[in-house]
Amino acid sequence: MKESSVKIVLTLPKETWDKPVIYKLIKDYDLVVNILRAEILPKMEGSAVLELNGTPEKIQKGINFLKSINVKIRPLELDIIREDEKCIHCGACIAPCPTNAFHLNIETFKVEFDKSKCVGCGHCISACPTRIIYSPDF
Ligand code: SF4
Ligand code: SF4
Repeated sequence: MKESSVKIVLTLPKETWDKPVIYKLIKDYDLVVNILRAEILPKMEGSAVLELNGTPEKIQKGINFLKSINVKIRPLELDIIREDEKCIHCGACIAPCPTNAFHLNIETFKVEFDKSKCVGCGHCISACPTRIIYSPDF
């Protein structure tokens, strides 16, 4: 069967922080997993952005496994907007961005937004102290 890929945002319950979730997706569900971002801390709710590659059937089984352990899943699809003129260039959006869509221009010391690199994960939205990053869908 033809291979395909999906990008998903996961919210992992704190009970899974020390469980081999990614390992099981690879080993038990035969998926190629590209970790675009992960924030896992001991005994805390975690988050991750994954790209799953495999046949549609394997991907669905992998997603069913994640749901069975109470992982919340949503597709990557947010259309991100930044109100450039209100940016104070604090840099708080740079670290949470898995694709470097937000980056520091070292000549101007301004934080620039390259929308073509954005995968719509939404991590930057809550990071911005001035709340000028948003999505109409969020
Ligand atoms: S949504 Fe924000 S954090 Fe995610 S890739 Fe786009 S700019 Fe980066
Ligand atoms: S976090 Fe917000 S204010 Fe700070 S650099 Fe990014 S967009 Fe600008």
